[in-house]
Amino acid sequence: MKNVNDPPDNHVRVLGGQGWVGLVGHLGTEATIVNAARVSFGRMKEEMDERDIVLLDYLIENRHTSPLEHVVFTFSVHCPLFVRGQWHRHRTWSYNEISRRYTEVDLEFYTPGKLRKQAAVNRQASVESDFDDRDLRERMCNHNKECLALYNRLLESGVCREQARGVLPQNMMVTFWGTVDLNNLLHFLDLRDSEHAQWEIREYAKAIKQLLRPLVPNVFKTFEERVCRLRK
Ligand SMILES: Cc1cc2nc3c(=O)[nH]c(=O)nc-3n(C[C@H](O)[C@H](O)[C@H](O)COP(=O)(O)OP(=O)(O)OC[C@H]3O[C@@H](n4cnc5c(N)ncnc54)[C@H](O)[C@@H]3O)c2cc1C
Repeated sequence: MKNVNDPPDNHVRVLGGQGWVGLVGHLGTEATIVNAARVSFGRMKEEMDERDIVLLDYLIENRHTSPLEHVVFTFSVHCPLFVRGQWHRHRTWSYNEISRRYTEVDLEFYTPGKLRKQAAVNRQASVESDFDDRDLRERMCNHNKECLALYNRLLESGVCREQARGVLPQNMMVTFWGTVDLNNLLHFLDLRDSEHAQWEIREYAKAIKQLLRPLVPNVFKTFEERVCRLRK
């Protein structure tokens, strides 16, 4: 049996290699989208042609989104708990996750490669800065180790996993599966590959684009060239 903490073959690493997002499987192609859009005519096509690409453009630009919902993707995501918290706000995804009520193995913590400073104007944003953060990052690592030691101590004392996990920090890495249709995925990418989003979740959104661009190239071309540009 495979370990769920091992990435799928088709994956992209993020956060300096500690995190990843991988494609577990998918249903449908760009031909599925145009077939769904033309279902009222009772005809189906196997291959895309130029007219279909024009139709795809039209659907995306005009937010005629229901045909996109026939294409579905399942991802496996390895990310810090705080990224998972942001991700799971997207209610149109279906999720399953490793439970710390069941297992205490493979505990791992995200150590940022660089610390950012608090943004002066935007209260939820950060800015890159060239300060010497080595001591602070080392302290973060030590803090993680102390949390892990306390967690293990609680388990050794017979405390249940569901309570002991309360001492594990927000940068604990978690693995979950998320399934979403293409329409809601584009909405997620629009919000999360944005300068308003936290750098860490933005890394995942960019990685998803990298995974999907070869599978739905025309959709991404229109989405990135027109829809994203219009919103800037
Ligand atoms: C940069 C950024 C900052 C954020 N900051 C905060 C914050 O400070 N605090 C905070 O609490 N959240 C914050 N969020 C989360 C945000 O409010 C949304 O919960 C999150 O982005 C999911 O968006 P969504 O609801 O559109 O997506 P989904 O849940 O995937 O929904 C997609 C679309 O489906 C429709 N929909 C889904 N469920 C319902 C429903 N129950 N009723 C009606 N329509 C529905 C809506 O049209 C929705 O846009 C932030 C998000 C971003 C991107």
